[in-house]
Amino acid sequence: MPLLTSYDPINRTPLGDVPITEPADMPAVILSAKKAQKSWAALSLAQRQQKVVQAYERLTSVEDQLALLISKEMGKDYRRASYEVGGTVQNADYFTQEIAQALQSESMGRNGEMQYRPLGVVAVISPWNYPLAMANNLLLPALVAGNSVVLKPSEETPLVADLFVKTLNQVLPENVLQITHGDADTGKSLVNADINMVAFTGSLAAGKHIMASAASGLKRLVMELGGNDPLIVMAGADIDEAVQFSVASSFENTGQMCTSTERIYVDERVADEFEQKVVALARRYQAGPWDQKNVNIGPIVNPKQHAKVLSQLEDAQTKGATFLLGKHQYALPYIQPTVVTGITPDMLLEQDETFGPVVAISRFMELSEAVERANASPYGLGAVVFGGAGAKAVAEQMEAGMVAINQGAGGLGPWVGAKQSGFGFHGTAAGHRQFSQVRVISK
Ligand code: NAD
Repeated sequence: MPLLTSYDPINRTPLGDVPITEPADMPAVILSAKKAQKSWAALSLAQRQQKVVQAYERLTSVEDQLALLISKEMGKDYRRASYEVGGTVQNADYFTQEIAQALQSESMGRNGEMQYRPLGVVAVISPWNYPLAMANNLLLPALVAGNSVVLKPSEETPLVADLFVKTLNQVLPENVLQITHGDADTGKSLVNADINMVAFTGSLAAGKHIMASAASGLKRLVMELGGNDPLIVMAGADIDEAVQFSVASSFENTGQMCTSTERIYVDERVADEFEQKVVALARRYQAGPWDQKNVNIGPIVNPKQHAKVLSQLEDAQTKGATFLLGKHQYALPYIQPTVVTGITPDMLLEQDETFGPVVAISRFMELSEAVERANASPYGLGAVVFGGAGAKAVAEQMEAGMVAINQGAGGLGPWVGAKQSGFGFHGTAAGHRQFSQVRVISK
């Protein structure tokens, strides 16, 4: 049986293997998922809720192991990894209740009822940057809704996902939750299999491919895709707060986050002060191995992603940007904190999502110019405005699913992307219902 090896991103040493699910194996996986789904759906919502909560309780015994695996497989520091695990395990009870509440049948006058029925088999395909949370966000609502789930985690972080699923399966009925392993090819064969829905978090390119493949069977979709989030710093902003946010948000998770700040547009009148303070703060960050003291930026997940960030920095260098901190060349696997100003619309740092610890700044004279550039992207995940009284009017012009004023975007309400950052979403009652088929009964 072919194996998928997980590597430590710091030194590329192998951490462990999992069996690859080959296309020929997929029909049997789906057949067993279909069978299991029938009896799972036959349970009441309350019974499923109870089972799911019991299953998540099992995870408390492996919290440390999960956090350590996250750190080892993708290089996030242990404190952040523990936070990710804690959020998944400790909030499961609350979210399970919220999901069950959202799926209660609704009366439609005296003669009708609207029901939220399971869809069948749901494929959950997840990325590596929050390897536990991203899988969980889609898998939990799908399961409670009465679907069986086949998870295909990222090939970068298979060990975390494997332990997660194996632990839940100590309690869940057989084959209600299964895991398949491999790279994009395994993902493709899962999408093409006889399933009912694909819930995907990952890149725009993969999302487009999945959407096209899902069309023939009209498979339901939830797509949580990439972002290129803008931040506008207005002249009336609290500059110190804007600086704190800009650096923290550009560097969080080593910049490998869908809603990290990607492009900063700062008013010329406050730009000198802003840039000086950003550089002073960014200097205090240090990239290195996650288990060393004073390190708060980890490795880039793999050599391909590292090369991609370098090509974006190199492009900015060639086109005339100014490096206020750092440079455009770094050795594997790190990218030290980097601050670049003078970004123009023709640069890759402006056009593409940058998955690295880079603060990318442009100055503007007119607010309208900043808004136009902020919106001139196919992505529309998050957007942030720092400013005084006029900030709300600017925020309302942002083409994004999650917009925030003087703080980070997202976390309130559903996790939702606009434009090519999303198609469907999760979170809150409206999100939980996307894993169900609405059925109307007239009596
Ligand atoms: P990716 O698209 O390369 O891979 C994600 C998953 O999809 C992996 O499991 C991969 O094997 C699989 N895959 C790739 N191509 C496929 C295909 N054609 N068919 C089926 N499966 C396929 O993304 P990544 O590098 O793992 O993650 C980073 C991306 O995820 C970034 O763009 C980031 O912004 C995005 N992301 C979005 C959110 C969100 O909530 N919107 C959250 C986290 C990450």
